[in-house]
Amino acid sequence: MPISDPEKKRIAQQARLVMKICFKCGARNDINATRCRKCRNPYLRLKNRTLGVKK
Ligand SMILES: [Zn+2]
Repeated sequence: MPISDPEKKRIAQQARLVMKICFKCGARNDINATRCRKCRNPYLRLKNRTLGVKK
């Protein structure tokens, strides 16, 4: 199902790329997360790639 609306596509790409990564175990966490969902480590780094990078 192709997305024709460029605004929706932009939001969808951002939602896929913006996340937080745990410093300790590298698990992906929600952007709103304050602690890692796997190891409870509070040190999370932001993963915010430029749009369009998918490999
Ligand atoms: Zn972790």
